[in-house]
Amino acid sequence: MAKDKGLTPQSQDFNEWYNEVVLKADLVDYGPVRGTMVVKPYGYAIWENIQRELDRMFKETGHQNAYFPLFIPISFLQKEAEHVEGFAPELAVVTQAGGETLEEPLAVRPTSETIIGHMWAKWIRTYRDLPQLLNQWNSVVRWELRTKLFLRTTEFLWQEGHTAHATQEEAEEEARRMAGVYATVLRDWCAIPGWEGPKTESEKFAGAVYSISYEAMMRDGKALQSCTSHYLGQNFARAFDIQFQDKDQQNKYVHTTSWGFTTRVVGALVMTHGDDKGLILPPRLAPIQVVIVPIYKAETREAVLPAAERLYQELKAAGIRVHLDDRDQYSPGYKFNEWELKGVPLRLELGPRDVEAGTAVLASRLGGKETLQISELLGLLPARLEQFQRDLYQRALEFRDAHTWAVDSYEAFKEKVEQGFVKAFHCGDKECEKQIKAETTATTRCIPYDEPEAQGSCVRCGKPSAYGKRILFAKAY
Ligand code: AMP
Repeated sequence: MAKDKGLTPQSQDFNEWYNEVVLKADLVDYGPVRGTMVVKPYGYAIWENIQRELDRMFKETGHQNAYFPLFIPISFLQKEAEHVEGFAPELAVVTQAGGETLEEPLAVRPTSETIIGHMWAKWIRTYRDLPQLLNQWNSVVRWELRTKLFLRTTEFLWQEGHTAHATQEEAEEEARRMAGVYATVLRDWCAIPGWEGPKTESEKFAGAVYSISYEAMMRDGKALQSCTSHYLGQNFARAFDIQFQDKDQQNKYVHTTSWGFTTRVVGALVMTHGDDKGLILPPRLAPIQVVIVPIYKAETREAVLPAAERLYQELKAAGIRVHLDDRDQYSPGYKFNEWELKGVPLRLELGPRDVEAGTAVLASRLGGKETLQISELLGLLPARLEQFQRDLYQRALEFRDAHTWAVDSYEAFKEKVEQGFVKAFHCGDKECEKQIKAETTATTRCIPYDEPEAQGSCVRCGKPSAYGKRILFAKAY
C-alpha cells in the first residue's frame, strides 16, 4: 500500500478520487467477476463495527437473527407481480447443478421476502404467532449493470429485517421504528447527516406499499440512498397466503415489513468525510482510533521504542483501539501519510525529546496539533475522540446545508441541482417526475419528515403540490 504519487484531488475528478482512496486505503479490491468486490480486512473491520451496533439495536428492539437459504425457487419470485417486475432484470439464476439441468431454475436471492413469506405461511397459524420479528445477516446478488465499489456491487453484504404483524398500524410503526434505528446509526455512528422520509411512488421498492429512505449528501453534492425500510402491506401475505386466525376468530392476512442496510455505507463514509489526503473515519467506527508513530534514529531507538510500547499498552488497556507503527523500514513522514490516507482520527508522535520531557504530540486528522503530558493522555483521549466524532458530524452537516436550496422556479431547480440538493414542490404525477429526470438527471429522493408543511405549485408543471410540503430532489448514485 505505497502512497506513491498522491491522490487525484477531489475537485479534479471525484470518481477517480473515490476509486483511488478505497483501493489505496486497502478497504477493498475488484473481484475477478465484473461488479464483484473483495472486502479487505481494513474495510471489513469498519463493516464489523457498524454491524455490531446495528445488531445490538435490532436485538434491543425485539428482533432475533435467523438464516434462510441462498437459493429460491424461481416460481416464488413470480408470485408478487411488482416484485418480479422490479427484480427480474437483476436476477442471477442457477439452471445447472450436480451435472444436471434443474427441474426448476433457482434464483440466487436478491432479497428474501419471498422465501420468508413461504415459511411464514407454514409457521403462522393464529394471532399468538405474531409478531414475527426476524433479521438475517447475509449477502445478496443483484446483477447491476452500472457498478461501483461498495456503492453498487453485484453481490453485497447486508442485513435484511423481515417482520409480520396482525395489524397495519403495528406494521407501519415497525417500518418507521427501523428507519429510525438506521437514522441513529447513520447520524451518531457514521456521522452522516441525512434526510429521512418516504420515497415517492415511482422510487419505492418493488412490492412495497411505501418505502422510507435516508438520503445522505456526498461531497460532490450527489445523493446516496443509504438504507431503506418498507411497509409491504398485505402484498406478500396475499401472494404467499400468510393468514392467521385473529382474536375475533376471523382469518386475516398479516401485514409485513422489510428493511435493509448494506456495505454501501462504507462507501458513504468515504464520500461524506474524505478529503484530498484520503479517508477520515468517525472514531466510533474506526478500526484504529489512535496511531502511535515513534520518531527515532538508530541512536535514539532504544530510548523511544520502549516508551512508545508502554504508551501503547496503557491506551489498549483503557479500551482505546490503538496501533503502534514500529516498522523500522519506513520514515515517520511516510507513516503520517499512510495513516492519514487510512483516515485514523488521532495520531500520537513520540520523539526522543518528548520521552525526556514526558510528553507526546497529538495530531488530529481534522487538523491541529498539541503537545500533551503523557500522564494526562489517558484521561484526555476518550473526550478528544468524542469531540472528533461531533466535529465530523458538524462538518458534514454544514456542508450539506450549504449545498441544499429551496427553489420555486424550474430555472433555479436546474441550476442548483448541479451543485447539490434541491427542495421543491411537486405535483406527484409520475410522468412529470419522469420528465424532470429526463431533463436534469435528478430524481426525487424522499419526502422529508423534517420538512415543514407548506403548499405551493409544482416546480416543473405548475399544478398544485401533492405532498403538502417541499420534497427532496438530487442527482443520485
Ligand atoms: P432494497 O432491498 O432494494 O430496499 O435495498 C436496500 C438498500 O440496499 C438500499 O436502500 C441501498 O442503500 C442498498 N443497495 C441497493 N442495491 C445495492 C447494491 N447493488 N450494492 C450495495 N448496496 C445496495
